[in-house]
Amino acid sequence: MTRDFIPVNTPLLQGKESLYLQDCIETGWISSEGGYVSAFEENVARYVGRKYAIAVSNGTAALDVAVASLNIGPGDEVIIPSFTIISCIHQVLRSGATPVFVDCFPDTFNINSFQIESLITPRTKAIIAVHIYGLPVDLNPILEICNSYGIHLIEDTAEMLGQKYYERRCGSFGDISTLSFYPNKIITTGEGGMILTDDPGIAERCRSLRNLCFSESNRFVHTELGWNYRMSNLQAAVGLAQLEKIDTALDRKRYIGATYDQLLSDIPAIKLPVASTSYASNIYWVYPVVLDSNLGLSAKEFAASLKRHGIGTRPFFYPLHLQPVLSNYESRHSTDLTTCESLHEYGLYIPSGLGLDDHQISIVSESIHLILEPYIS
Ligand SMILES: *Cc1c(COP(=O)(O)O)cnc(C)c1O
Repeated sequence: MTRDFIPVNTPLLQGKESLYLQDCIETGWISSEGGYVSAFEENVARYVGRKYAIAVSNGTAALDVAVASLNIGPGDEVIIPSFTIISCIHQVLRSGATPVFVDCFPDTFNINSFQIESLITPRTKAIIAVHIYGLPVDLNPILEICNSYGIHLIEDTAEMLGQKYYERRCGSFGDISTLSFYPNKIITTGEGGMILTDDPGIAERCRSLRNLCFSESNRFVHTELGWNYRMSNLQAAVGLAQLEKIDTALDRKRYIGATYDQLLSDIPAIKLPVASTSYASNIYWVYPVVLDSNLGLSAKEFAASLKRHGIGTRPFFYPLHLQPVLSNYESRHSTDLTTCESLHEYGLYIPSGLGLDDHQISIVSESIHLILEPYIS
């Protein structure tokens, strides 16, 4: 193979990133005290339509702080989709609370809202709704449940910055919403994350938890433990430049998605992502494909074949309710988690980063055709 490997993600840094970074270096403002951090926070808050934004060191940190800020702890339960990243349960488990796992829908990969209500108990303190891969969670039924039972909503918007649920931006629905700026996300700061809320009390608490819970009046006297989860000015400088270009990024994601849709639509052996629902059109954060389970080909084998063709992929999430680490903790789950278990077996996503060019898209498509050909006829 002579051409370069096509990685699953390559970020695009083509705006004012170097200019702003240069500014940090020339002025010496490189820590979290620099002006880019507050500018980035204000601009993300305005873009999403929220009152407060708190920048942190990554998306996992944002979830840790979100869960801690709601005082979730021993005896409490948090309803969480099983089909998501481990980050969603870190602080839930460490705080001594119990995660309660529900399945996802087969078409959108998002939390199966029909399973939520029967799992609610007087201990249920929050639901974590996670927008997965490109289509948002159908939030209205979940917001209704949260309102009628007095449960908090944490909205993990790591994959969905810029997406809308009906007319409103994702990230504006949770009591707390979180973002990640890892290099495969819609905008990146290398490593980075953010917490969004409209509640001044929650915002204040998140700021304190992010910064070691220093007290205002007695700087080195602490009444509570937090974390050093601060974002640096260097990261925020990159983020600010990235946010200026988010419309281009979203257009490109949609273009990559539409192109794959077209090129791969003649392969009955794989299920392509749903292009739109009544409440949103796909932003194709990544391009997920699900193999027909009758083919006799697993996602793992398919990924290995694509790798031999010089193409990177990522497997779908390994369901949280099956994670070996859970044997050390208490957890509960819905009786039916078959969808997420099967998705892990048969699903993967193909190169879909912002740096992917048209030529690479056609190579990926040709390779998929070649690999699946023997399974089709
Ligand atoms: C990426 C991601 C995170 C974690 O973000 P990091 O910045 O990598 O810690 C959390 N939730 C979801 C849904 C993600 O996709």
